[in-house]
Amino acid sequence: MEARQRMESNIVLAIDIGGTTVKGSVFADGSELSPELAAPTFEGSLGAFDAVLAVVSDLARTAHAHGYEPTAIGVGTPGLVDAPFGLVRYAANLKWTDFPLASRLEEHFSLPTTIDHDARTAARAEMALRPALRDFVFIPIGTGISAAIVTAGRTVTGARGQAGELGHVTTIPDGRACSCGRLGCLETYASARAVLSGYVEAGGTANSAADVARLVGKDPLADQAWSTAVNALATGITTLTAIFDPAEIVIGGGLSAAGPVLLNPLRDEVRGLLGWRDAPAISASRAGPRAGLLGAALLGNTP
Ligand SMILES: [Zn+2]
Repeated sequence: MEARQRMESNIVLAIDIGGTTVKGSVFADGSELSPELAAPTFEGSLGAFDAVLAVVSDLARTAHAHGYEPTAIGVGTPGLVDAPFGLVRYAANLKWTDFPLASRLEEHFSLPTTIDHDARTAARAEMALRPALRDFVFIPIGTGISAAIVTAGRTVTGARGQAGELGHVTTIPDGRACSCGRLGCLETYASARAVLSGYVEAGGTANSAADVARLVGKDPLADQAWSTAVNALATGITTLTAIFDPAEIVIGGGLSAAGPVLLNPLRDEVRGLLGWRDAPAISASRAGPRAGLLGAALLGNTP
């Protein structure tokens, strides 16, 4: 058992916090020890941190059962994240304000803990899979929309760790009301939630944005909801391109599963809007739904 511990230098308990589930897995020098674990983010009166504690405890047990002593915890979390201070400044869905997530986990498990915004965490996984990717923007599209901006291989965090709030860029002045209190934000038109609600409000019947994606080309109401989302996203991507000149835009999150139904019209639209210069390539995430967890594992690695 001790020989294995000496051979493996990074035994990371990796956590990906989402609005509905907390996912976790143990990585020994980048290899996953066992299938991922998950717990509901909210159960009864328990808060999101209770779910995180439960999953990390289970992961520590899994590591021990394999004969390994964990060396670090890596966490991807939504919200406004001040990574160097280990703080979640604000996460509406998790009900956290100035929450010292890293130090709370360090106290509990006596393990060095690194946290980062979930989009930036997922972008790390993309970079690990594609080392040539040095200038790109990773845009996860799910319930909301955010962005991880990577330039010359470095993630742009901003002065307060709050860079990349693409979902709250005004796309339609005086448009739909957003949860941030303003009008016309990108995510009120192009998030998975917005695609579904746009379609249902127009009179369609569907349970998810994936349902709407499947109806594109067959149902004019679905076409309308979809093109509204694509137009809004294209505007956001055009703005990002003008400022950061990325080689590629990588779309992640649930909506990326729509594949060509999303990517083809988006490429056309962005190319049309950027007639005056080269458009970036637009692709779907390689790491897919596991990008957050794979990136969290990388956070805990020491060279
Ligand atoms: Zn907003």
